[in-house]
Amino acid sequence: MADVLRILAFGAHPDDCDLMVGGLAIKYARLGHGVKLVAMCNGNAGHHVMGGGPLAQRRYAEAQRSAVIASAGASGRVEYVVLDIPDCQLMPTLENRWTVVSMIREFQADLVITNRPNDYHPDHRYASQLVQDAAYTVTVPNVMALTPHLSHNPVFAFWSDNFQRPYPFTPDVAIAIDDVLETKLDMLQCHESQMFEWLPYNHNVLDQVPANPAERRSFLAKHWLPRMEREAERGRDLLKQLYGEGRGGLVRHAECLEYCEYGSHVDEGMFRRLFPFFA
Ligand SMILES: [Zn+2]
Repeated sequence: MADVLRILAFGAHPDDCDLMVGGLAIKYARLGHGVKLVAMCNGNAGHHVMGGGPLAQRRYAEAQRSAVIASAGASGRVEYVVLDIPDCQLMPTLENRWTVVSMIREFQADLVITNRPNDYHPDHRYASQLVQDAAYTVTVPNVMALTPHLSHNPVFAFWSDNFQRPYPFTPDVAIAIDDVLETKLDMLQCHESQMFEWLPYNHNVLDQVPANPAERRSFLAKHWLPRMEREAERGRDLLKQLYGEGRGGLVRHAECLEYCEYGSHVDEGMFRRLFPFFA
């Protein structure tokens, strides 16, 4: 392939990227592009029974399985990196900023995705802050001079959320994920400690988690598909514009992105290059 894209997503925890842009990761990989998913924290507080090192190791293994599933049968690869920062302790320090700058440079990212900066969880907020602080800086030769700088600032974008202040999420791109939905659920299913233990506990529905695998799959679908359906509704106008009135109207599940103003501007040519899904 002449133009292999490099897509880099920064989440705070080892399942954030899967939930928010898992479908996109699969789609890029199947088109031969390179995807790196990053969890800035090691996940060591995301459980009500276990914690610390054993939980971080368990979640690392879950993330690696998810990446293998996302890459299965694809000509491109999805890799999953977990940084060893404890949960609820991510801070927008210079040290962490340099880590993000060097990761973006070394991967030579074309598109960098993270969460928006106003979010309930401090790790989410600071992951976003760190990525925004790295934007532009990745092009400055005298910042981290030993890690070759990028000649072009990548495009930076946010995945969606429902927070209304200071302004609600406004999609710039909406991508149908119906064709990869089962694989995205397979990715989520890898995060057993979250999908069937911690999140149900935290949402007070632990007693509803079924034991057998088929019922677990339905439980997962019941809890997470509505979010992806709402994304399709939120992006409906864009979906119709991008896929055509008929096809766009029929999309059931989607993932949406909003541009960050600190990245490269997305003109029509850049859009076609970065989002090769609408032919
Ligand atoms: Zn998270």
